[in-house]
Amino acid sequence: PSRIPCPHDSLLNNKWVNPYADTLKRLRDAFDSGRTRPAEFRLIQLRGLSRFLNENRKLLLDTLAQDLSKPAFEADISEIILCETEIKLALNNLHTWMKDERVEKNLVTQLDSAFIRKEPYGVTLIISPWNYPLNLLLMPLVGAIAAGNCVVLKPSEISKSMEKVIAEVLPQYLDKNCFATVLGGPQEATILLKNRFDYIFFTGSPRVGRIVMSAASKYLTPITLELGGKNPCYVDDNCDPQNVANRVAWFRFFNAGQTCVAPDYILCTRETQEKLLPALQNAVTQFYGKDPQGSPDLGRIISDKHFHRLRGLLGNGRAAIGGQSDEQERYIAPTVLVDVKETDPVMQEEIFGPILPILNVQSIDEAIAFIRKREKPLALYAFSKNSKVVNKVLDQTSSGNFGGNDGFMFMTMTSMPFGGVGHSGMGEYHGKFTFDAFSHRRGCLLRSPYLEMIDKIRYPPYSPGHQRL
Ligand code: NAD
Repeated sequence: PSRIPCPHDSLLNNKWVNPYADTLKRLRDAFDSGRTRPAEFRLIQLRGLSRFLNENRKLLLDTLAQDLSKPAFEADISEIILCETEIKLALNNLHTWMKDERVEKNLVTQLDSAFIRKEPYGVTLIISPWNYPLNLLLMPLVGAIAAGNCVVLKPSEISKSMEKVIAEVLPQYLDKNCFATVLGGPQEATILLKNRFDYIFFTGSPRVGRIVMSAASKYLTPITLELGGKNPCYVDDNCDPQNVANRVAWFRFFNAGQTCVAPDYILCTRETQEKLLPALQNAVTQFYGKDPQGSPDLGRIISDKHFHRLRGLLGNGRAAIGGQSDEQERYIAPTVLVDVKETDPVMQEEIFGPILPILNVQSIDEAIAFIRKREKPLALYAFSKNSKVVNKVLDQTSSGNFGGNDGFMFMTMTSMPFGGVGHSGMGEYHGKFTFDAFSHRRGCLLRSPYLEMIDKIRYPPYSPGHQRL
């Protein structure tokens, strides 16, 4: 990628000046020249990405610590290792993925060649958020490269240190004519989106997702939207409370709760709540000690804006666990809220922080009705020792992904599509699904130029016998 100066004023003397025109032309020319199409080119770029991760591992971990105080273990498994796994998979399977797929033929095409060609879209755009600033930029990039596209990367301006690394270090590992980085926030992104792309991959909030979708509609550009929302977590009476508490606490407080697939709230009966609370307190103490603020294993909130938003939510219901905060450090304690009402602010927006409300329901049917009344979430979880209960929740609800008796472990599986549905997004990726997302599947039928003797029976003038054809 090459660094593009941020445009502050794109209107000079009322004349539209497109600050990205040169960069996009460079990428367009590179794509049109066909240089991204050979497998060898794609493999070289993927190996470049792999070296970027390998040679800069310490820098990347330090950068994630600067932006989010990410514990090294969390950063390593959720940002670096997942990307490395994706790259390895793409390197090992690229030739197979790229191959034309033969398809079944009907009677009249028996002598022809029928297949699906996996075609790169062209010049694509990847816009990513700040919570996993490396993962959410590179995971789509792996598939975009594998599928043979040119790419403009727009990292989040909020994870500032990582934005700098993406602008300054990553370009050393990729072809500069085919990959570019655009820096900046909403203002720059708005101008960028006025340009025509062949495909847009956006990860972020539903609010901005709508803006991206409407910009894409101008050119009918195909898109993937990876959005967020409130992920319900149903806990059945028939469960091992400590086991559930360990799993829920880990994936709720991982990255200080700033995870799109984290459980947003628990639904359970009051009796189960009473068993879960001491178990959750136990899990928090085991993980982060008696004073979680002193723990090196708990991240911090990304910005003052998000810190103040979250601190405001701490006053909803009653903090049965945690509830403390420290503005200086942007620290919010791992918190569990009880006596929360459906109408409280904490239940109106995606929490995106280390706060876990528990809402009481009388039965599984009430929990399912509660979930179905709301937007389709990105992820949905159900915990029970009884597999019938887990399957009932699965069967009677809809969500981007589903986890039975655990958290976001499905994110580690390259064989699993990841993505939202409806309000939580559209399209899917991870593993080969990312290659597919960035490829147009072109149905091709190559017929013989001969055999007109057979084909001509379809032409007019039609006789009564044609009706039976
Ligand atoms: P955001 O929507 O505010 O920003 C995402 C990206 O869009 C950033 O790069 C930002 O600069 C850009 N942007 C902001 N305003 C824009 C505009 N007007 N036009 C074009 N681009 C604009 O999201 P965020 O705060 O960075 O991230 C948090 C959200 O992302 C949460 O809702 C979370 O659930 C979601 N998320 C989803 C996934 C997923 O995989 N589905 C992963 C992580 C985060």
